[in-house]
Amino acid sequence: MRPDTKFLKPILLSPLKVAMIYAIFGVLWIVFSDTALHAVVQDPDLEAKLQTGKGWFFILVTAALIYGLTYNLVANARAAHDQIQAVNESLEQRVLDRTASLAARESYIRAVLDHSAEAIITLDNRGIIETFNPAACEVFGYSSDEAIGQSVSILIPEKSRSVHDVYMQNTHQYSKTIINKPRDVVARRKDGENFPIKITISPMIIENETKYVALMHDITTRKSIEEQLVTAKANAEGANRAKSDFLSSMSHELRTPLNAIIGFSDSLIGGVFGKIENEAHIEYLAHIRSSGEHLLELINEILDLSRIEAGKLKLNIEKVSPCDLIHECVNLFSDQAEKHNVSIELGEISPNSIQVSMDERRLRQVLLNLMSNGIKYNQNGGRLNVSCEEPDENTLRIYFTDTGHGIAAKDLENLFVPFNRLIAEETDIPGTGIGLTLCKRLMEEMGGEIGVESIEGKGSKFWIDMPRIS
Ligand code: ADP
Repeated sequence: MRPDTKFLKPILLSPLKVAMIYAIFGVLWIVFSDTALHAVVQDPDLEAKLQTGKGWFFILVTAALIYGLTYNLVANARAAHDQIQAVNESLEQRVLDRTASLAARESYIRAVLDHSAEAIITLDNRGIIETFNPAACEVFGYSSDEAIGQSVSILIPEKSRSVHDVYMQNTHQYSKTIINKPRDVVARRKDGENFPIKITISPMIIENETKYVALMHDITTRKSIEEQLVTAKANAEGANRAKSDFLSSMSHELRTPLNAIIGFSDSLIGGVFGKIENEAHIEYLAHIRSSGEHLLELINEILDLSRIEAGKLKLNIEKVSPCDLIHECVNLFSDQAEKHNVSIELGEISPNSIQVSMDERRLRQVLLNLMSNGIKYNQNGGRLNVSCEEPDENTLRIYFTDTGHGIAAKDLENLFVPFNRLIAEETDIPGTGIGLTLCKRLMEEMGGEIGVESIEGKGSKFWIDMPRIS
């Protein structure tokens, strides 16, 4: 915008005018002063003295000086004006630029608010709603026009409003609990429905005034899934407890008659009630006994598993010498190994002095199971090697390495799944399919671990880790 310069014209003309007026008056004075002098002064000598040609010179010089001075003043004023005009123009440009950038920034922030999936509202320090974005409209059912200017308490269920008021009045006191801390709270929709939200409130200082921005997310779906999960978990736990109780009482009830069946068939085979002549009858009795034993083993394992699941397994953790246990188990299996034509080799075994922290009875159960498998699933003429290693100073590891048929890589992940006998299902090798599951659970309960590596057709290497004491 060009500034108005008309006001300068009178200023520019004035030096000339001043000089001319001054000169006219000077000339008049010179012309008439002589006449006046002549009329007033009678003495010709005095008159001559008073008349002087210097007057002309004085008038011209003075006029020139005045003109120069005035011209200079005007030139300065003009330069100052030009400068002011330039500054003005640059200021105006900066204001225009700033306004444009503010407008761009505002539309950017507006776009963020409009497109945010989170409900965003801002409040002044009295809790009056100042911003209410579209997501907030969707969540709460109010339009932004309806919500802005209202107290935030319209979004709060009636019974929680008093608590909220206390928070608003004592924000300093409660800032640690509510400010910048995501919380799950109950909110209220326009139609009066209460629903759960996750809310984070943050303070902001705008023009020396504290305001609050609240980010909210409707968590109705999540809460209902959580509730369903909690109910499902409680139901599953209840069912599991009922199952464990059932198993435990059933197992108890079954074991007594089973022990009688095994005991009587044993006595009959041994001829306690008179010699049995018929070979076929003896064979039937042997079947009854081995079936009874198998059933008893299954019942005992199921009982142990249900005890662990119910958290009712009682452990007696003490110092155990694994070396002694290994020798004991190897001796126990010597007959079975011979029957299967498998040789048991003792590799490097930890010295007697090494002790681990375990329940001796349960550790023996694990060792027996792993050795039994190493023999059962071995090949005719195969080997089972038992050895120890110390992977670190706090752990003792026992390896059971066999030369059996091994386990396919795809089956390894199902190895510890209860009742999964893998390919043994199709063989006549006796088993229940829960021995390894039980070993794993027992080792974990005792603070140890179990693992396996296997190559199909070549053999398997099971290992157990135990916490070392010395
Ligand atoms: P069970 O021996 O009573 O069937 P386990 O839980 O002890 O049950 O073992 C589960 C399955 O894992 C077995 O049926 C068998 O197929 C496989 N398995 C276990 N140990 C070995 C092993 N040393 N070599 C090959 N397969 C094994």
